[in-house]
Amino acid sequence: MNEHYARIIEAIGEDPQRPGLKDTPKRAAKAMQYLTQGYQQSLDDIVNEAIFPSDCSEMVLVKDIELYSLCEHHLLPFIGKAHVAYIPNGKVLGLSKVARIVDMFARRLQIQEQLTVEIAETIQDVTGAAGVGVIIEAKHMCMMMRGVEKQNSVMKTSAMLGSFRSQQATRTEFLSLIR
Ligand SMILES: [Zn+2]
Repeated sequence: MNEHYARIIEAIGEDPQRPGLKDTPKRAAKAMQYLTQGYQQSLDDIVNEAIFPSDCSEMVLVKDIELYSLCEHHLLPFIGKAHVAYIPNGKVLGLSKVARIVDMFARRLQIQEQLTVEIAETIQDVTGAAGVGVIIEAKHMCMMMRGVEKQNSVMKTSAMLGSFRSQQATRTEFLSLIR
């Protein structure tokens, strides 16, 4: 990957040998590895049996989870927040695991719509919940720094499964809790 970054630096008309850029290919490659580390992670390792029996049947919500991802069309960041809620059905997931699941999928090349659905379906699979709701709000550098240059537009996506899809009251509760 270092070699490829050196070629990119050349292709934009820079000199990869000049002092300021000498170590840039190495650093850029390391950063890219970090930003896409979700490909090296597995759900089993992340959840690591942190599933606990519970009688709770009220909504569990983790909101404002920081989210950093890369758009698969331009390899530019999109940055925002994820809100994840579910209604347990006999099992709950360790709280930090929700954020780690968000991270695992965000640290890949993504489109926001797909990321939202992947998180929702995974929470559903892991917990067997009666319903799952995920909302992501994010700003996309590919819109802000290039193209239409719309600096303030925020993209919102949602995925609603089970009772979040079938019951208006559950959806309304979720939406009011994240406001
Ligand atoms: Zn893009």
